[in-house]
Amino acid sequence: MTQETSPKYDALKAIRDEILQLKESPLYDERIKNETFPVIGSGSHDANIMFIGEAPGKNEAKTGRPFCGASGRVLDELLAHVSLQRDDVYITNVLKDRPTNNRDPKPEEIALYGPFLERQIEIIQPKVIATLGRFSMEYVMKMMGLEDKLDIISKTHGKVFEAKTSYGTIKIVPLYHPAVGIYNRNLLPELQKDFEMLIDITS
Ligand code: URA
Repeated sequence: MTQETSPKYDALKAIRDEILQLKESPLYDERIKNETFPVIGSGSHDANIMFIGEAPGKNEAKTGRPFCGASGRVLDELLAHVSLQRDDVYITNVLKDRPTNNRDPKPEEIALYGPFLERQIEIIQPKVIATLGRFSMEYVMKMMGLEDKLDIISKTHGKVFEAKTSYGTIKIVPLYHPAVGIYNRNLLPELQKDFEMLIDITS
């Protein structure tokens, strides 16, 4: 069965169709005005590792693909560092539409788009969720009942937390957002080490 004919594909397509029509989103009018796309996610629907970023940027909204700009190049470098390709993993974001001028997501936007992410997790059933950056760490850790373990990302990155889901116990790993690798190349070895650890705990 190819991805395009599986029940997972249909369930993910239903999410895409709902988001396309998400007129109650404060980001909907901007998307229509700019003729851009929502960014649902990409990669394997059977991935063991799911990466969750913050929100689409300009390039992502233009193409409908997550992490296809400067942060995406760093993410690709990190995946290559551990011999992974994009098709081996699933990549998505908390918000599916671009916040105007890449501002931080607002709480009401996170509340509106978050449940779609929760459905994606239930459909793909990853063994490991790697959050990219502060917003997705906070959303996913709270969603998984790990709020008491939250701390600043410089302390939590690379730590492994266990969480119970409807399909079993999984691992949650907060990571730095790949954008830090653009501004601070000194942090790259730290990011690489965290990616190496991801591979260790997945196999
Ligand atoms: N930053 C994110 O958090 N997500 C993207 O898809 C691109 C940049």
